[in-house]
Amino acid sequence: MKKSLKDYNFKGKRVLVRVDFNVPLEDGKVTDTNRIEAALPTIKFLANEDAKVILMSHLGRPKGEFKEELKLDPVGKELANLLNKKVVKVDDCIGSEVKKAVDSMNNGDVLLLENTRFYKGEKENDPEFSKQLAENADIFVLDAFGAAHRAHASTVGVTEYLPSAAGFLLMRELNALGDVMEDPESPFVAIMGGAKISGKISVIENLLDKVDFILTGGGIANTFLKAQGYEVGESLVEDDKLQVARDLISKAREKGVILLLPKDVIIADRFDKEAEAKEVSVDQIPSDWQILDSGGTQTLEEYKTVIMNAKTVIWNGPIGVFEFDKFAKGTNEIAKALAESDAKTVIGGGESAAAVKKAGLTDKMTHVSTGGGASLRFFEGKPLPAVEAIDDLK
Ligand code: ADP
Ligand code: MG
Repeated sequence: MKKSLKDYNFKGKRVLVRVDFNVPLEDGKVTDTNRIEAALPTIKFLANEDAKVILMSHLGRPKGEFKEELKLDPVGKELANLLNKKVVKVDDCIGSEVKKAVDSMNNGDVLLLENTRFYKGEKENDPEFSKQLAENADIFVLDAFGAAHRAHASTVGVTEYLPSAAGFLLMRELNALGDVMEDPESPFVAIMGGAKISGKISVIENLLDKVDFILTGGGIANTFLKAQGYEVGESLVEDDKLQVARDLISKAREKGVILLLPKDVIIADRFDKEAEAKEVSVDQIPSDWQILDSGGTQTLEEYKTVIMNAKTVIWNGPIGVFEFDKFAKGTNEIAKALAESDAKTVIGGGESAAAVKKAGLTDKMTHVSTGGGASLRFFEGKPLPAVEAIDDLK
């Protein structure tokens, strides 16, 4: 068991909180506030407990250098709106400017530091940089589930210098994901879609020991189909993973897991939102067309039946190019089936969560994870380094 927010007295303490404010920006505006909202319970709790709340996060990929367009100022504005409270933003995450700002904080104040990835020491988990981050604080709280699979200075390094605890969002994620992975009620169904099989092989391998069904879609299904000898034309396929796909199919068979591939799909004459679309059986794909949605009529019927009879469902990866309306049907129909089913439903993966949100069904799921990579790591059955680094409850 890890220490959590109830294991400390925060009154008057300088609390450094690693949040995940890695949000999408367009023209200097936050276009999706999900991750900021997800961090509010911890921030509000600490402020109410009379702590001095110091927030830090990474944003985008500045590669260890200052990037004007990746400053956290727009996030600070959005946070102040959502909290309905003043948020002071400083232009650095270490050094004298931070010290000055922290020294002038009152209990209950909220301070936002600058993008931690403006320093190379962040990704290198550099001890000196970690120490500088920790310098102006008394306690460290990890609430950035979305960054918990990375051993960086702001997630792992700082725990060498400060007593630590898990925040509310982190606990909620660990409980929800832990619940389905450790004690799933069967029938347990995994829906695996998304672009590529390569990042998900070890996830599928781990799931083969736990689930009763795997429903495939997206680029993953294309690779499975080609591995089974189907012509998939210009579809997104990983040709160097065909043998892996065949091995996964035989492992599933050995373990009694039913691994389903699409029977019919929506194909396109090119990769474009205006492409011509038609539904065909998987043995009818012309060599110059490509699958952009695994959700053909028969496929969806079969997948929905499995979902409606499930007690636990995890979903990673959209089953089509849902960003194009013409090819979003499969993904939307699967999302609807999950929303309607009585099963425990857990969604992991950045685009999958976005697809569920776009369908307006986020509230209908048991849990939609805020972490793409971190939830995948969880489904792989592997520990999250930043969670491991939090102090144990003795
Ligand atoms: P997640 O972020 O949920 O883990 P991935 O990152 O693995 O999911 O993949 C998401 C992407 O996969 C989506 O942007 C979607 O457009 C793409 N995708 C799904 N099906 C196909 C397909 N048939 N061909 C090409 N891309 C696809
Ligand atoms: Mg993704």
